[in-house]
Amino acid sequence: MDVEQFRIKARNWLAEHVEEFSDFDPADLTAGREFRRALWDAGLLGITLDRAYGGAGLTDDHQRAFDEEASKYSLPPMGEAVTTGICAPTLLDFGTEEQKKRHIPRMVRGDEVWTQLLSEPGAGSDLAGLQTRAVRDGDEYAITGQKVWTSGAMDSDFALCMARTDPDLPKHKGLSMFIVDLKAPGVDIRPLRQMTGDAHFNEVFLDDVKVAADQMVGAENEGWRALTAMLTHERLALGAGTGAGGSGSGWTRPASARFIDTARRLGSSSDANVRQELVKLYIAERILAFVGQKMRDEIAAGIPVGSKGSVAKLATALISRQSASVGMAISGAASQAWDAADPAGAVLATAMCFSPMTAIAGGTSEIQRNTIGERVLGLPKEPQTDRDIPFRDILQNPVKK
Ligand SMILES: Cc1cc2nc3c(=O)[nH]c(=O)nc-3n(C[C@H](O)[C@H](O)[C@H](O)COP(=O)(O)OP(=O)(O)OC[C@H]3O[C@@H](n4cnc5c(N)ncnc54)[C@H](O)[C@@H]3O)c2cc1C
Repeated sequence: MDVEQFRIKARNWLAEHVEEFSDFDPADLTAGREFRRALWDAGLLGITLDRAYGGAGLTDDHQRAFDEEASKYSLPPMGEAVTTGICAPTLLDFGTEEQKKRHIPRMVRGDEVWTQLLSEPGAGSDLAGLQTRAVRDGDEYAITGQKVWTSGAMDSDFALCMARTDPDLPKHKGLSMFIVDLKAPGVDIRPLRQMTGDAHFNEVFLDDVKVAADQMVGAENEGWRALTAMLTHERLALGAGTGAGGSGSGWTRPASARFIDTARRLGSSSDANVRQELVKLYIAERILAFVGQKMRDEIAAGIPVGSKGSVAKLATALISRQSASVGMAISGAASQAWDAADPAGAVLATAMCFSPMTAIAGGTSEIQRNTIGERVLGLPKEPQTDRDIPFRDILQNPVKK
């Protein structure tokens, strides 16, 4: 189907069906999943995804045509960033055919939700220092350790989990990646409360969790390669709106557009300072949208984007802060002590409390700056003293039993 025919198909489908999905609660993930199932069944999701995994196998131009049509509506999310933006692309890069055929269609359609079991109490920015162990016993591994900040684990079905398979190798070399069923015996998920009042992320305790050997993603002790690819996908998904679901960030209504409505409603749209801040935000969002589009085009053309994804991720974190501050400027005191009858104030206050997360999740802004300095600009690397010695010889905090 050529791009124009596809555009008309998307336009007609959206005109006919959007009404059913327009009245959604952003906190309710089921609305987004139902919408994705309907899109998938209509051939409008997984547009660029290979047909072998249930996708439509079309081009990036088809995706862009869909994004342009979809951007005219206020729609539930078309992909869950972690499942379709991070885990699915990693599985596509490193998974076996069996793993991909089993999981990819279900991930994109919204039938399976995934998360990442990476960070630990003693390993965040320095992820290669993780202490979770995977010990082989016949046809399976037994995984034991503690993960933390695991987004959405309480609602997820599976996770890509990093564990150490050989502590005699240096820290980056003895790691492997596994598909872990979060309903398996030995998995204990405990929610953590955030300053927004919500509990999006969790501590996850793994106690002798049995994982079949064929659930390893990539080769044993070479998990760092898969992890590096996963972190790149994460930065691109968060910064440039990429993902196996196919839909980029193009359809999302930018904060500046929403704020213009809010400013008009609250009567601050003629305030010169508010106008100035809105224009600055609009410019920043437009530049990021173009940068994101360029990166998506490069990926579609087979050009490796690699560490440049950190530029988009860092910009997203900066704009998120900027956007939360503009929200405060527009609504003034109403964003701090809002009328119960006006939930918009609560939305802006929550956005403010939530905004620091983009500078931490997916690698902090300091780490993105290091990556940009070292791998994009070619500046000298930070000195590392523990890179080449066996992991078991590195001084570590004892693991709690
Ligand atoms: C909302 C949210 C969701 C998350 N979801 C997940 C998830 O689903 N799965 C998961 O595994 N993890 C998740 N994380 C964890 C996240 O990846 C880590 O918090 C992050 O990588 C930082 O690690 P840390 O918290 O251990 O901080 P640390 O690594 O201890 O860093 C502390 C401070 O030191 C700075 N720092 C550290 N090293 C350097 C350096 N070399 N140079 C300069 N500065 C440095 C950091 O920038 C930071 O300011 C999430 C975090 C958040 C906030």
